[in-house]
Amino acid sequence: MTLLNNPKYDVESIRRDFPVLAQKVNGKPLVFLDNAASAQKPHQVIDAMKNVLENEYANVHRGLYSFSEKCTERFENARKKVQKFINADSESEIVFVRGATEAINLVASSYGSGFLKEGDEVIISEAEHHSNIVPWQMLRDEKGLVLKVAPVSDDGDFLIDEYQKLLTERTKLVAIAHMSNVLGSIFPVREIIKMAHDVGAKVLLDGCQAITHTPVDVKELDCDFYAFSGHKIYAPTGIGVLYGKKELLEIMPPYQGGGEMMKKVTFEKTTYAESPAKFGAGTPAFVEAIGLGVALDYVSEIGMDKIATYEEDLLSYATARMNEVEGLKIIGTSSKKGSVISFVMDCGHPHDIAMILDKCGIAVRAGHQCAQPLHTRMGITASARVSLGMYNKHSEIDELIKGLERVKLFLS
Ligand SMILES: *Cc1c(COP(=O)(O)O)cnc(C)c1O
Repeated sequence: MTLLNNPKYDVESIRRDFPVLAQKVNGKPLVFLDNAASAQKPHQVIDAMKNVLENEYANVHRGLYSFSEKCTERFENARKKVQKFINADSESEIVFVRGATEAINLVASSYGSGFLKEGDEVIISEAEHHSNIVPWQMLRDEKGLVLKVAPVSDDGDFLIDEYQKLLTERTKLVAIAHMSNVLGSIFPVREIIKMAHDVGAKVLLDGCQAITHTPVDVKELDCDFYAFSGHKIYAPTGIGVLYGKKELLEIMPPYQGGGEMMKKVTFEKTTYAESPAKFGAGTPAFVEAIGLGVALDYVSEIGMDKIATYEEDLLSYATARMNEVEGLKIIGTSSKKGSVISFVMDCGHPHDIAMILDKCGIAVRAGHQCAQPLHTRMGITASARVSLGMYNKHSEIDELIKGLERVKLFLS
């Protein structure tokens, strides 16, 4: 990368690092605007994983031969990179999982079985991804918990006063998105956390979207758990992170049983390893974890604050231009937003919008976006979504606007 000594945000140089972006789709240059579903990978990540597979591949934490030691070192190094990236206190607070979904299920299953009982209350919000709804419903049904839902406004803002009313001394856990994958709203998580702590509840943040768009500091936030997936922050699929405060991970029971997570096994009794090994039953996705470490290096070198500033600018440009398109309505108009724009159009269904845009080489998401209850709340069944990444540029927004005009022409 040539960005080290370049204070200016050089989007063209960043784009050259992402091989996929040079492709054509339907004869048109690819305009990839579905980053909130999964982001593309820079060659640095691809090369690092290829290098492990070609030259250094051996299972971690097992062999005493140098091949395995190299892999183990790279794997543990990736854990350190995650720790630094989110400013956790210790590596033992970083649990590698398959993705945010598994991270949330881990907390629901482990913290839930160890510390929640009938009548205890869990609060989520109206704007949650299904991954941060269903595990809590399953736990509710299993344990007899009460699941409460904090509302959002028509603009997509978190209604903090309404949330306050839901908090009681029976509230044990609050599980909330840091940033909504549909509305783009960045929730007032510091206040949410403080108010939860005031009644003695723990807080899990679903950081899938926020982690790619803003700097995240778990210590400053004082959250108890933070979950995210690698694949949305330019790393591969199959790897994700659960951050948990050390004192919590220490007392939580294991999530799954198997190799790696035990201290001593006999047929009568097994004693468990300490965190993070306790939560890492089985061979970990270490090649993917190494890829994640490189992806975090990549965005860190550019600077998460620079990426955030660049994307903010891109977001306001895209919002202004899309608002000029007649018959288009943006869903989620909070003043505190990350670069996600969901919308509907008078002229047709989001699926048709996405199909016509695809003909123009433009990739957007359409459907319920894994957030059906939120769509119901907003009075719609589906939406289309433009989500911008660090490599998108203003001219691609211009292409999108041309595409949307074509959509109108086709569908009316
Ligand atoms: C993508 C996403 C998830 C689920 O992530 P997986 O990688 O599918 O596990 C959860 N919450 C939000 C807000 C997301 O955007």
